[in-house]
Amino acid sequence: MNYRCAHRWAFPKWGGPLEPMSEDLPAPAGHEVTVRITHCGMCHSDLHIQAGGFDMGGGKLSSLERSGTKLPVTMGHEIGGEVVEIGPEVKDVKVGDKVVVYPWIGCSECAVCLAGNDHMCPRAMRNLGLQAPGGYADLARVPHERYLVAIGKLEPARAATFACAGITAYGAIRKLAAPTAEDYVAVVGCGGVGMTAVALLSATSKARVVAVDPDPAKREAALSHGAVLAFDPSAPDALKTIGKACNMNIAGAVDFVGAESSSSLAVNLVRRTGQVVIVGLFGGEFRMPLPMFALKSIQISGSYVAGLNDLRELVALAQRIKLPEIPLDLRPLKQVNQALSDLAKGRVVGRVVLLP
Ligand SMILES: [Zn+2]
Ligand SMILES: [Zn+2]
Repeated sequence: MNYRCAHRWAFPKWGGPLEPMSEDLPAPAGHEVTVRITHCGMCHSDLHIQAGGFDMGGGKLSSLERSGTKLPVTMGHEIGGEVVEIGPEVKDVKVGDKVVVYPWIGCSECAVCLAGNDHMCPRAMRNLGLQAPGGYADLARVPHERYLVAIGKLEPARAATFACAGITAYGAIRKLAAPTAEDYVAVVGCGGVGMTAVALLSATSKARVVAVDPDPAKREAALSHGAVLAFDPSAPDALKTIGKACNMNIAGAVDFVGAESSSSLAVNLVRRTGQVVIVGLFGGEFRMPLPMFALKSIQISGSYVAGLNDLRELVALAQRIKLPEIPLDLRPLKQVNQALSDLAKGRVVGRVVLLP
């Protein structure tokens, strides 16, 4: 295989289909690394990226174009593969290493980036799969070896999904103050990311985990991954029923949907001094009476993917504890357009992982 020519599936027009393209790569310079991609997870946010932005509520859309993303875009930010070429200054990885790539890359130079929080860099966004070419390709060029995490004996397809789905769950629950054994924590929305959060919370905290999802199969699965209670948020009086069942002691609620209904539910579920973490990017807006901030002394925060150290910790954790085996739907990369359309129509169970 020629490691100096990347074959990618990219869209040249916002909202348009992905097309095969190729680009010659120069020899890796400095700390750059070329990874031969063996697996790339498909994330729900790819649908928003392809569409060109996110629903900000009130009929408004964010625009990736206005915020500087250039066409064509090669998506794919859950990249797993093997190191095939390294720049002359690379020391910490070698050719042949099996890795997952941390894709949320910033300027790489400021204090925020150097602390491992590239995803919150105030200076620049060079995310793989958005501003820089991502994993819907056979090769990825990574600007520095520190963005690679060795996966050891982990199943490569699953480890790839840690780069977004995994660390999104991990980063969100890490925002909660350490719960006590009396505290309940609600996980609202138990798709792949929410389900991972249920399992991580059960395995790593004392909290009693409460799963909230309209789908009975997902509630069932959440109970088998460590949730002690599960509820349908669309049932009449859901708020009251859940509150009562949890002794009105829900210390934290993590919203993996990010819709108006799920976020208001999360805010209303938590007790005084409770924490709400909003993760999902479904979109819209929600209203809340301002006095409630003070009267309930609640904290509402957002969580967007997570830092490089979180990915390292999650990979280490996955070698120690059993994480839920979210079903994987492996498909050839050349079927990417079909896979995106299936994802948009809700026809995917678990996570699609593309094989270049
Ligand atoms: Zn993602
Ligand atoms: Zn930076």
